[in-house]
Amino acid sequence: MDIDKLRDWFFESRRLLPWRENPSPYEVWVSEVMLQQTQVSVVVPYFKRWMTLFPTIKSLAEAPMDKVIKVWEGLGYYSRARNLHEGARYLVENHGGEIPSSYKELERIKGLGPYTIGAILSFAFKKKAAAVDGNILRVFARYDGVMASIDQSKVQKKIRERCEALLPEKEPWIVMEGLIELGALVCQKKAQCSLCPISKNCAAYKTCKADILPIRKKKEKVTHLHRSVAVVHDRKSLLLRKGERGKVMADLSEFPYFDRGVSVEKALGIPLKSIGPLPEVSHGFTKYKAFLYPHLYEASQIEIKGYEWIPFNKLSSIPFSSGHRRILLLLKNNHIIPI
Ligand code: SF4
Repeated sequence: MDIDKLRDWFFESRRLLPWRENPSPYEVWVSEVMLQQTQVSVVVPYFKRWMTLFPTIKSLAEAPMDKVIKVWEGLGYYSRARNLHEGARYLVENHGGEIPSSYKELERIKGLGPYTIGAILSFAFKKKAAAVDGNILRVFARYDGVMASIDQSKVQKKIRERCEALLPEKEPWIVMEGLIELGALVCQKKAQCSLCPISKNCAAYKTCKADILPIRKKKEKVTHLHRSVAVVHDRKSLLLRKGERGKVMADLSEFPYFDRGVSVEKALGIPLKSIGPLPEVSHGFTKYKAFLYPHLYEASQIEIKGYEWIPFNKLSSIPFSSGHRRILLLLKNNHIIPI
């Protein structure tokens, strides 16, 4: 691979990102965790806000979990925020609030996998370490003409070794970041080979296979969920419940919801006055697509096990799961409740 050409291209084409200029290990850690499953343009404002509110590992460790989740609200995959929080506490207790620079010690931090560890070692500690994410797997699968599925761990291991061997002794982090940027900007899902600085020796380019590589296993089927959502208020408060610890929506608030067809009144066990249906909301999470059918009810404030009545003026400081936050916005934007 023509490393010099790749470096030149990287210096000309790289995006200026807030975590890119001489980042601290903490900045690399936070940005890489945010970037998992999320686009760069979405991450930028979240990253800036996070760094303002939690500028150090110590400040993150001392923050209440509710606040951390609220700052993460909208990014999805909330276990990432919980792991960052837990990781920060671990680092304060065991490393004086600093991120260690050895692979073995980094492995002990909750939620850190080979890619994020490689990124911290490479971008923050400037070590010769491979950070193999989806971009790198795609680039090498095409460049080397890998005809096996890149979902296999043995293929990923080979690509990681291949990538590490290719990194130069001098400034290896620049080549590492250049490869990732190449995957993000040029060797994308639809490869733009005419713009590629390393096309000369690329197997996929030479054999016209860029559009069939990399090989992936078939995607898991998306499951559709249909749910009745009960938006119950007593003119001062809304009835909510918090997602259970250990479940996908842990620490996030949601309206009471039930499978479509279940009687909401019976399920909640309190008398409800129906006001009327609200517009349908749909959202995707992990391998699900949920269709939410909210309905507005009025009720007297009666205690129900597992639920809480939250005053309207407290709602804006509570983290909601994404579909239910959209229902809350609907209530706010249409002045149905004063938030
Ligand atoms: S030539 Fe095309 S397929 Fe090969 S690395 Fe470049 S963009 Fe990817």
